[in-house]
Amino acid sequence: MNERDTLKINRLGHLEIGGMDTVEIAGKFGTPVYVFDEAHIRNMMRVYKACIDNLYGGNGTVAYASKAFSCKAVYAIAKQEKISIDIVSGGELYTAVKAGFPAENIYMHGNNKLVHELEEAVDNKVGTIILDSFREADILNSVCKARGTVQNVLIRINPGVEAHTHAFVQTARTDSKFGFSVSDGAAEEMTAHVLSKEFLNLKGYHCHIGSQIFEKEPFVLAANKVMDFIASIKSRSGFEAQTLNIGGGFGIWYNDEDPEMKLSDYSEYLDCIITAIKAKAKQYSINEPYLVIEPGRSIVGEAGITLYTVGAIKEIAGIKKYVAIDGGMFDNPRYALYQSKYSALLANRAKEECTEKVTVAGKCCESGDIIAVDVQLPKAKSGDIMAVLSTGAYNYSMASNYNRNAVPPAILVKDGQAEYIIKPQTYEDIVRNDVVPDRLK
Ligand SMILES: *Cc1c(COP(=O)(O)O)cnc(C)c1O
Repeated sequence: MNERDTLKINRLGHLEIGGMDTVEIAGKFGTPVYVFDEAHIRNMMRVYKACIDNLYGGNGTVAYASKAFSCKAVYAIAKQEKISIDIVSGGELYTAVKAGFPAENIYMHGNNKLVHELEEAVDNKVGTIILDSFREADILNSVCKARGTVQNVLIRINPGVEAHTHAFVQTARTDSKFGFSVSDGAAEEMTAHVLSKEFLNLKGYHCHIGSQIFEKEPFVLAANKVMDFIASIKSRSGFEAQTLNIGGGFGIWYNDEDPEMKLSDYSEYLDCIITAIKAKAKQYSINEPYLVIEPGRSIVGEAGITLYTVGAIKEIAGIKKYVAIDGGMFDNPRYALYQSKYSALLANRAKEECTEKVTVAGKCCESGDIIAVDVQLPKAKSGDIMAVLSTGAYNYSMASNYNRNAVPPAILVKDGQAEYIIKPQTYEDIVRNDVVPDRLK
């Protein structure tokens, strides 16, 4: 909860998002439901875009990393905000195309893009494809040759910087399924390979050093290392990269262990990155490359919350109290996957004093189906509305139909109005593709 004012507590003591009472939202749309504040999403897109415009003369673009939250409406917002997007699958490409997103502003990633995905990308005239294997370069070249088109590409490299939430390391050789290492010559070898391809136009390099990063140093280090690499390739082969895509990974607030991020914190990341790039360009007398940044989580993460209804409450004397909700790992698998920490509150009693520490459990048949641990709440009752915060990124996009639970709908709030951007799944949707062969009838 910060100056972006996505969340407030109103005079009824209810949590509000984007000017709308969450208790009203729960009443109107039911629970579980994902709720997004449109203004917050737009503000984040704008702060990044403004940095590139003001600090780097507009020589670059913001590519929203849409794996964080992919649906037609979010692509429509990105289009209106005149930013780019990054996608990692044919399904995300299809969604973006269906939303009318301009294909030339799409960056396509993936460590194992399928042949049909590459074909779909070329047929839809995707602006840039980020290559991640020799084989992929060969396949893409043939796909383009068959169509008589030349495709702009970047190579994903590993500059030897790895960052995780509160720590970063410099490594000689990154152990990752992504990218070509700079230190062992693989990135240089791939450069020569791509340059030899008639139907591929190598624009430059991409790297992505990690996610949920709060420090600026790892980004600066990565920018420096990629610029060193660009300069070295230029002097060794004459090829000068025109584009540097530095990836995403800027951190967001999930709970009190994280810093509260202000808009200015995000411009500071870009300020540091841009300062480093400019200095290196000057040092080596090379061009300042076209800069692409790919924030995902920081654009949609804090913009979204999930509303649930409290059901069963179970106290294991002297050990723990479980408060179960009508959702779970099928709408938010991140605790189950990574022990990610979330904050929760009772949206209908947001002003009441917190008197107990509870574990918020889902309704799936798994002991590991937990949404949040050790959250402080007023004494919860069945029927209370619970809000879990900062669920806008990697929740809906990682949802499943586990236990044949329906994936919750998503609604978008703007100026005190709420509407569906993803409709609720029905039971019929869940069985739509099931087939019972005649011999089983
Ligand atoms: C996941 C990813 C991003 C976005 O990361 P966030 O932590 O969501 O900002 C950007 N680029 C690439 C290549 C990614 O894989």
